[in-house]
Amino acid sequence: MLHSATNNFSHERVHLREFLRSRGITDEAVLRAMGKIPREQFLEKNFARRAYEDSALPIGSGQTISQPFTVAYMTQALHLQPGEKVLEIGTGSGYQAAVLEEMGCKVFTIERHLPLLQNARKRFDALGYHDIISRSGDGSRGWAEYAPFDAIIVTAGAPDVPETLTKQLNPNGGRLLVPVGSLDIQRMYLVKNEQGKLSVEELPEFKFVPLVGKEGWAMEERG
Ligand code: SAM
Repeated sequence: MLHSATNNFSHERVHLREFLRSRGITDEAVLRAMGKIPREQFLEKNFARRAYEDSALPIGSGQTISQPFTVAYMTQALHLQPGEKVLEIGTGSGYQAAVLEEMGCKVFTIERHLPLLQNARKRFDALGYHDIISRSGDGSRGWAEYAPFDAIIVTAGAPDVPETLTKQLNPNGGRLLVPVGSLDIQRMYLVKNEQGKLSVEELPEFKFVPLVGKEGWAMEERG
């Protein structure tokens, strides 16, 4: 958990919360977490002043931090409870992992670009998020060692639902949220495992950078 919040951008965080509410985010735990975390510290200095815009911003290695509404929407859609085990695929800046940690979840996160992971780890240390467990590599096949997970959140767009991830869900109510579609546009899929039976709910469309890996796109990402 974050112990010493910076005073900078505190008005922007209040506005961010109001904006998210106006867009239909009602989960108080999500609003509390995003109203507390200094998003500017998950960006390079030259983008920090834009931290509270509702836009995706570059974080290096051709990747982006997702826009705040997308983070809030995905986190709310998982209906998380404190203490749940959550796996994130695509650590990126580390912001989404910090949101999950602030919500009291036990967080595991995987990033394929080592420099991004190293930067995210520095942020976790600086902000006191010492319980986040992370590794570099291809997360499209999950993290079998720590499975099963109560929730898995994929923050990159996949061509199909990665089957291995569905197998790493808790059979008693595990949820997998993954954007699925083309390289240009994806629909959010919410896959649930209830008593060992999978169901799929289709949610709105979003646009993500590609999930690159064995159960993702077999390619290098575009710039
Ligand atoms: N959640 C991130 C945040 O809060 O900043 C933003 C994620 S960014 C939209 C998607 C991330 O997924 C990129 O950093 C990308 O390198 C990563 N990625 C893509 N394919 C991956 C894979 N197979 N395994 C792990 N990470 C992957």
